[in-house]
Amino acid sequence: MKSIAEAQREIHAAFAALASERLPLLDALDRFLAADYVARHDSPPFDASAMDGYAVAAATLATASRDAPVELVVQGESRAGGPPPPALAAGTAMRIFTGALVPEGADAVVLQENTERSAQRVSFDESVRSGANVRRRGEDLRSGQLVLPRGARVGSGEIALLASQEIGNVLVHRRPRVAILCTGDELREIGEPARPGSIINSNAYALWAQVRQAGAEPWLLPAVPDERERMRDAIAEALSADVVVISGGVSVGDYDVVHRALADLDIALALWKVRMKPGKPLSFGVKNGVPVLGLPGNPVSAWVTFELFARPGLRTMLGDARPWRRRMSVRLEKVIDKPRGRPEMARGSLRYDEQGQAVVQLRERQGSGALSSLANVDVLVLLPEGHEPLGLETPLEAWLVRDITD
Ligand code: AMP
Ligand code: MG
Repeated sequence: MKSIAEAQREIHAAFAALASERLPLLDALDRFLAADYVARHDSPPFDASAMDGYAVAAATLATASRDAPVELVVQGESRAGGPPPPALAAGTAMRIFTGALVPEGADAVVLQENTERSAQRVSFDESVRSGANVRRRGEDLRSGQLVLPRGARVGSGEIALLASQEIGNVLVHRRPRVAILCTGDELREIGEPARPGSIINSNAYALWAQVRQAGAEPWLLPAVPDERERMRDAIAEALSADVVVISGGVSVGDYDVVHRALADLDIALALWKVRMKPGKPLSFGVKNGVPVLGLPGNPVSAWVTFELFARPGLRTMLGDARPWRRRMSVRLEKVIDKPRGRPEMARGSLRYDEQGQAVVQLRERQGSGALSSLANVDVLVLLPEGHEPLGLETPLEAWLVRDITD
């Protein structure tokens, strides 16, 4: 049996970032840059006032104090988007507003609130530091400087930055197209009449959503019955995708025909037993560079194994430099018995106690058939196997599986 980490490593080695495509900036949201981006302009593009007030040469106010204020004539105005202001005449102040060009000859802005205005004059009762309340041209970014490196995620902040640099389209990695193939004679779709022993094909929905939330493009194929030829044809079609995810039929039962169908297509699929609950049987192979992942049919197992074994690879295909879920240390809210036999990936929701410690409330039912355990999941908690109870003080390793953007 393989450990979770071993299986993750071996599978992940088959994935690499996909080719790049050029997209309009807004379409690149949540993608990953496939090139370095450098500044096209200085930012700010000119010396600008950070406040509403008066532009001055700081030296003219050197002696200003409460007892001996300095009074200057107000000459001219500079406002954001207004006409370029004339140079500041020596010994005068200029009315200026936030975002406006600082006139030549001025090197500081005094806040309106700290002045006293009377008709054509303005009085200052303290000196000002040269550079005060002025945003210097290029103080944030210099033209030619690296703005965002290849591999950076394009979130809303990055979009602001790129737009401000007049970068209207970007090179990002292509999104992987993921074929989803659910198998089983017992499956029926929503709205189809129920037959004795039939169950709803919920994995199709779960996997579609998981693929989509991973940032990839789901391609849902019709469910396939447990027949070798039909399975072979379906898999052959699915192989035109970037990744194939199969749910069910990957075990060793008489009707688990996925392996035979794959053998017909010359795909060697390793059947692994991973030391974890849920989801022991897992299979994996590669055909012409397309990773093929066989997940257990059990809805909970399929959901958990997709999260652990498929999602990181999809993130890597997208160009994500950090494809693994964030790990954290958590404590349990209630004492429970350790699982017997195999470590368990338990589903739970997260809260922070008064001390700021992460506390997990595990879902009541943790069986691999318990779909109820998939609601409101923030974390997968690794419960080590054993015979003793797990106390409230034991730190446990958990994967944060809720997207930050949720
Ligand atoms: P299998 O891995 O094919 O042996 O299936 C294991 C269990 O998962 C069985 O109880 C199946 O009925 C169930 N199952 C398989 N595929 C699906 C699916 N697409 N949706 C919901 N349950 C499924
Ligand atoms: Mg089956």
